[in-house]
Amino acid sequence: MFQPLAQTSGDAPFVARHVGPRDDEIAKMLDAVGYESLDALVDAAVPQAIRSIDALDLPPASTELEALDELRALSRRNQRQTQMIGLGYSDTITPQVVLRRVLESPAWYTAYTPYQPEISQGRLEALLNYQTMVADLSGLPTANSSLLDESTAAAEAMTLMRRAVRGEGGVLVVDEDCLPQTIAVVRTRAEPLGLSVRVADLDDGLPDGDVFGVLVQYPGASGRVRDLRTITEEAHERGALVTVAADLLAMTLVTPPGELGADVVVGSSQRFGVPLGYGGPHAGYMAVRTGLERGLPGRLVGVSKDVHGAPAYRLALQTREQHIRREKATSNICTAQVLLAVVASMYAVWHGPDGLRDIAGRVHRQAAGLATALRAGGVEVVHDTFFDTVLARVPGRAEAVAADAGELGVNVGVAGTDLVRVACDEVTTDVDLRRVLKAFGIESPQLPTEAEALPAGLRRGSAYLTHPVFNSHRSETSMLRYLRRLSDKDYALDRGMIPLGSCTMKLNAATEMEPITWPGFAGIHPFAPVEQADGYVAMIRQLEQWLATLTGYDTVSIQPNAGSQGELAGLLAIRAYHRANGDDQRDVCLIPSSAHGTNAASAVMAGMRVVVVAADEDGAVDLDSLQAKIDEHGDRLAAIMVTYPSTHGVYEEGITEIARRVHEAGGQVYVDGANLNALLGLAKPGEFGADVSHLNLHKTFCIPHGGGGPGVGPIGVRAHLSPYLPNHPMLPEAGPASGVGPISGAPFGSASILPIPWAYIRMMGPEGLKLATQTAVLNANYVAARLAGHFPVLYAGRNGLVAHECIVDLRQLTKSSGITVDDVAKRLIDYGFHAPTMSFPVAGTLMIEPTESEDKAELDRFCDAMIAIRAEADKVAAGDWPADDNPLTGAPHTAESLIGSWEHPYERETAVYPIRSVRGDKYWPPVGRIDGAYGDRHLVCSCPAPEAFES
Ligand SMILES: *Cc1c(COP(=O)(O)O)cnc(C)c1O
Repeated sequence: MFQPLAQTSGDAPFVARHVGPRDDEIAKMLDAVGYESLDALVDAAVPQAIRSIDALDLPPASTELEALDELRALSRRNQRQTQMIGLGYSDTITPQVVLRRVLESPAWYTAYTPYQPEISQGRLEALLNYQTMVADLSGLPTANSSLLDESTAAAEAMTLMRRAVRGEGGVLVVDEDCLPQTIAVVRTRAEPLGLSVRVADLDDGLPDGDVFGVLVQYPGASGRVRDLRTITEEAHERGALVTVAADLLAMTLVTPPGELGADVVVGSSQRFGVPLGYGGPHAGYMAVRTGLERGLPGRLVGVSKDVHGAPAYRLALQTREQHIRREKATSNICTAQVLLAVVASMYAVWHGPDGLRDIAGRVHRQAAGLATALRAGGVEVVHDTFFDTVLARVPGRAEAVAADAGELGVNVGVAGTDLVRVACDEVTTDVDLRRVLKAFGIESPQLPTEAEALPAGLRRGSAYLTHPVFNSHRSETSMLRYLRRLSDKDYALDRGMIPLGSCTMKLNAATEMEPITWPGFAGIHPFAPVEQADGYVAMIRQLEQWLATLTGYDTVSIQPNAGSQGELAGLLAIRAYHRANGDDQRDVCLIPSSAHGTNAASAVMAGMRVVVVAADEDGAVDLDSLQAKIDEHGDRLAAIMVTYPSTHGVYEEGITEIARRVHEAGGQVYVDGANLNALLGLAKPGEFGADVSHLNLHKTFCIPHGGGGPGVGPIGVRAHLSPYLPNHPMLPEAGPASGVGPISGAPFGSASILPIPWAYIRMMGPEGLKLATQTAVLNANYVAARLAGHFPVLYAGRNGLVAHECIVDLRQLTKSSGITVDDVAKRLIDYGFHAPTMSFPVAGTLMIEPTESEDKAELDRFCDAMIAIRAEADKVAAGDWPADDNPLTGAPHTAESLIGSWEHPYERETAVYPIRSVRGDKYWPPVGRIDGAYGDRHLVCSCPAPEAFES
């Protein structure tokens, strides 16, 4: 099977490393599902109507070393400069211990979103640290556990303010000293919602008229630090709320916005140790004042307790999430930036409050020294008060100064013809400052070391990061052990399979991961002159081309930094297309009842009305219901949004017919491409009727989930939608001039993790990608076949086959035994597994997606566990064990629960060693089952005092 692949090194081809099962295992599994070959299986499962016949026009597979060489060459085409452009992106030093033990550690990056909190206590603690850090620094009590970037966080704050303020309409007033990319993202998001945005100079006070919110940058994009109190007071008098986009490092020195009257504080935690990476991924943040916490978008970690009464962390207020609230959700965010939030939180743990203050003080003194030297050299400095950024006026010479600085190896910012912006950061040296001064024509300057330029009335007086966690790990030994202690509590892919349906938890190969922290990729500022990012642009163009080839679309934009953002971008493209055709009234988006929650939430954000289409009893879109809705909405139909293969895990036969009918009625077809792992190399959405799809590069294309982000959600479109892709005000290369505006703060979104999908496609080649898909389908069908006698498999497509995942139905079991999906999920922990997806898309079921990376032994181990659990549930049904005291309802069992007296009707051994395979290799959950509702009633979202853990 692996022969056709060229070999230049002694190692096996990469595809044999990526795909789990060996040939003999594939043969055995094929036997179990009743097919002769992978081709025969796939021919039986996938409808002929959607199969694509042409071979994929991709380069043949490279070896791992070749891919690394090619990526290294690309990284070297990026020109590394000292980056002093500012605008929300600062160079930073990732502490080596955090680099190696978090960012480059599979224990952290291969974890999933902590929906199973008992096996996620480590990353939940890290995220709680993040929330505490943001809350302390911003001066507001409640912060979430990351958003996608600063600009989208500001856009989320806009809608939060709109919801929180009485009435409708009104204007969002945006200070003109906000980051330009933030203003642009806010405009993109406001337009479809009918919200008005007015950019104004707030020194003149708020403009007249109805204002619901104010957005102001602190320090401003120009560097200026000013007292926000007049703004917040006037806004509050006028009945408006105020969001402050603030710099976390500056807030160690200046009065935090929460103490100046801000209702919401947003920003980026990038400069806390997360590489520039040409714009992302970085963790955005949001903090709110008391009373707004239930309107916070994104995830919020909170403290609750487990069954034994011990404090335990879990995600709080999950009922706010789009999975549950769908079109009533307040935001579409799903994947966020957990891994980067963990890095930023650990930067604060490592440096502590004193260390951060020292860094901020040094940065500030350098900026102030630069300003003094500029003035001494006869250059006008625009603002008297600033933190890290100096704005200099050089009439008519801004471009020339920037060019001279560039020649000397330093990128500075240019604002118009007269203004140059120079931003200092953690890595700035005096040598850099002298180069900058030289570019201004100032030779051998004096650089004062004790200069100051913070406003006297805005010195921070309040303490921050006083919790012991930020004051305990100063030695590397201590930090190393803290990180290990946390990651040891967690179940990630480096322990065993994570069979989460729809999430595609596959291998994140070491070769794919290695390049992302190389300096040639990590050290590039997103607004550096594009010639300096030649390697990036070449890689991005190639990747877009490959993705277009794989999906059958004409154009791809990689800007959206999560699947949810791709959905919004795709729907905005549809909206713009209809408007360009004069069809402004087309605003109805049909969405099947089984759709992922983000779909409905995104449609609302794109200004559409959601109309639900029913599913028939096979789980497929009901064509009669579809036709009725099409007829009902007539020329108001904008689009249908369907997932393919459906979220029911089958290749629906009706997809081409659905597309035909929607097109005939003048609508567009959006295919949610999150399930592309079932299609790659077999079928292309752009060829079977879709107009646009988002892909989840963090699912199909091996970007790790990072415990809940990063992700990349590019969209592919057919040619007629290409003019409406995202673009970016600061980089024409990022998208068409006629585009819908930026969907993320950075022109190429989360650029620094694009080497991962690039390497995956490069090393797999066309044959390997197809083999991966075939194996994913085989693995899912094998699991379905093994479990079918024990749990009904809910849906099947042609020939009784599933696609790349299968849903097992527990509802009957729950009825007969009282054992719920939750009990089974928690019991799987005792057996050493992460649960499958629970109750999506059907309540009372488990959706299992093994992916191609799991070998037969692991699949068998999982199936054995599921079958054993079924037998346990039967014992409960038979009355052998009471319904409220049995190994399932008692799960997961901690080590601690074994000591002392044991008063359960089952043995200790049954509790913790239910099956042979866990002996000698036991994962011990650190806490027992967590009471989520308790935590929601007693909301605590920052680090609890250590005494809380004394038993
Ligand atoms: C994962 C997923 C999404 C959302 O993607 P995010 O990157 O988490 O925003 C949308 N639709 C489906 C079917 C998914 O599985």
